Amino acid sequence: MALEKSLYEKLTELSRNLWWSWQPEVTSIFRDIDPVRWTELGHNPVTLLQEYPVDRLERRATEEVLHPRINWAYRRWHEYMEATDTWGATHAGVLGQRPTAYFSAEFGIHESLPIYSGGLGVLAGDHLKSASDLGIPIVGIGLFYAQGYFQQYLDGEGWQREEYIDQTAERLPLSPALTPDGQPVRVCVETRSGKLHARVWRLDVGRIKLFLLDADIPENRVEDRQLTSRLYGGDQRTRIRQEIILGIGGVRALAAMGIHPGVIHMNEGHSAFAGLEIIRQRMKEDDLTFDEALRETASMCVFTTHTPVPAGHDRFGGELLEEHLGPLRDALGLNGETLMGLGRVEPQNSNEAFCMTVLALKVCRRANAVSSLHGVVSRRMWASLWPWRSEEEIPIGHITNGVHVSSWLAPQMRALYDRVLPINWYLRTGEPGVWAGVEQISAGELWETHQSLKHKLIVYARKRLVQQAQRRNESDQSVLAASQALEPHVLTIGFARRFAPYKRADLVARELDVLAQLITDSERPVQFIFAGKSHPADEPGKSIIQRIIRITQQEPFLGKVVFLEDYDINLGRHLVQGVDVWLNNPRRPLEASGTSGQKVVLNGCLNCSILDGWWAEAYDGSNGFAIGTGRTHVNTEVQDARDAANLLKVLRHEVIPLYYDRDRDDLPQEWAKRMKRGVRTLGWRFNADRMVMDYVTHSYVPAAGGLSCDMSQT
Ligand SMILES: *Cc1c(COP(=O)(O)O)cnc(C)c1O
Repeated sequence: MALEKSLYEKLTELSRNLWWSWQPEVTSIFRDIDPVRWTELGHNPVTLLQEYPVDRLERRATEEVLHPRINWAYRRWHEYMEATDTWGATHAGVLGQRPTAYFSAEFGIHESLPIYSGGLGVLAGDHLKSASDLGIPIVGIGLFYAQGYFQQYLDGEGWQREEYIDQTAERLPLSPALTPDGQPVRVCVETRSGKLHARVWRLDVGRIKLFLLDADIPENRVEDRQLTSRLYGGDQRTRIRQEIILGIGGVRALAAMGIHPGVIHMNEGHSAFAGLEIIRQRMKEDDLTFDEALRETASMCVFTTHTPVPAGHDRFGGELLEEHLGPLRDALGLNGETLMGLGRVEPQNSNEAFCMTVLALKVCRRANAVSSLHGVVSRRMWASLWPWRSEEEIPIGHITNGVHVSSWLAPQMRALYDRVLPINWYLRTGEPGVWAGVEQISAGELWETHQSLKHKLIVYARKRLVQQAQRRNESDQSVLAASQALEPHVLTIGFARRFAPYKRADLVARELDVLAQLITDSERPVQFIFAGKSHPADEPGKSIIQRIIRITQQEPFLGKVVFLEDYDINLGRHLVQGVDVWLNNPRRPLEASGTSGQKVVLNGCLNCSILDGWWAEAYDGSNGFAIGTGRTHVNTEVQDARDAANLLKVLRHEVIPLYYDRDRDDLPQEWAKRMKRGVRTLGWRFNADRMVMDYVTHSYVPAAGGLSCDMSQT
């Protein structure tokens, strides 16, 4: 072929579409170019290639015999991008001309793009990846945080410190989003105190385009240029300004690009102002009254609520709202109180603040929670918005969260599945029958594969523990101890998530003497790996981290209970692929879904969890372990004590005995059976392909077709 692209061009193209991030074979090409720099650069192929001019790259590719791998990857990528026989082509045709616009304040796609803080962001990232794999017409809308969330490190006292690193757009696979006539997109939102401007970046996530708004441009006042620099940073005023850029700016950006969405999906309430902007557009373009435009807008808007925890629902006072929404309010022809009423449960109640979740529920005809139990909780929580309806009739359904299989499944485990599951099984992960074959995997093979992943995790954990000890200038002895922490043959329990107090990371340590017994048992010991960040303003959360750190520093827990700093997607991937048991003990019913436990399922690890969120509908008695019976006590003190006792009980009487029950070949036959049962019964349900297919069938297609909500309920 005369037009054959050079190696350099192919790699550059591959590096500029995040498709590579869920293709382990492609990721490993970048790594093999320069394993040391790959790690140092935070797994960022764009910056890696910037260090490799054409001739240096050619030399390296020849040394490592990368040409065939690169050609193969490049061909696969083109096949992927050009495929037309997708699930979406058959099931989501109505979105073809008018795609779904998916709004989210965070997107967790890969560790090199730190614009996420936790589960909400990772879920949004997984949503886009599955939508890409399935060929769903969708575009993402978010914010570009140059400083992202923070990097976590712990000081000598075990107190969390935050470090912010500037990411420039040039070091990421971002390009300016363009208008149809090729101009860079600019949007502007008027407030009573001046205009806010933003530019728009485009990020390619497989077949999907994700647009990120960025306030750091000269048109803005100096103080406003920082507006989008940090995720969940700043005060209420920063927050509302971010949210008008996301919601109102996002809708205007779509219009400027000539994209006319048929459905608006608001992932959490942060973007609910989008609804008001669409109403304004409809009033102006079609000469509708506010009420008519509201009805039309609501029919195309879908809202997903993600938490029953009050801090997860933004509330703004009247002044802040008037300062920022005043000009839009004028355009909508509403008075101040009517606007405030849109964010209130009781519209006339002047003591009530403006709540973004309430606004979202009022501007979206379709709303859903993220697990079955969370559906029940949300209907109760918002029942007073529909006082004439009984609780079961509150129009909030549920679509349970899922995780993107290729992003979280270890390649070794995938190789095992490839042998027993139908060909191209990973294109049909949402079908139960597809997973049945896992029962054919021999216990020995499954166990060896898991053990090799566990060894990898332990090597990785030791390396990080050494780095942490060195950074804290600890003694040589403690650095040495870090390099020998954790034991490959010991039952390893992982706990990693945001350290929000309701997640109760220290629950297992409530009765410290009992924990000490479990850890020091000479025949059947256990060990723990903890990780997780607290929000910078969450002092109680930070205290919990400190309490865990103090435990890790004292006998008999040294080297047996460890804390790995700076939890992110990369650390998460290692953990969910390598631990034996994943511990999850939130205060029921506050964990709306939880998704990290779904990642471990794919890798054959077992969940040990409170019956909350997704686990309440997943546990069947033999596909993992349950802590307690799902009862809640009105007194949280009592509930915490009861759950702690139940947790230790299930560890002692179920988890530990089963793990150490070995046959003559030292194989835990019953444990392996449970691993397989977990994969077979849970893999097909709790993955993001199934989730996105549910959204398409139950939300997007009916919303795009203007069907009334009741018809879409199954
Ligand atoms: C999956 C994931 C989460 C979500 O974990 P939960 O179980 O929902 O608490 C948070 N952070 C990271 C980095 C993840 O990968």
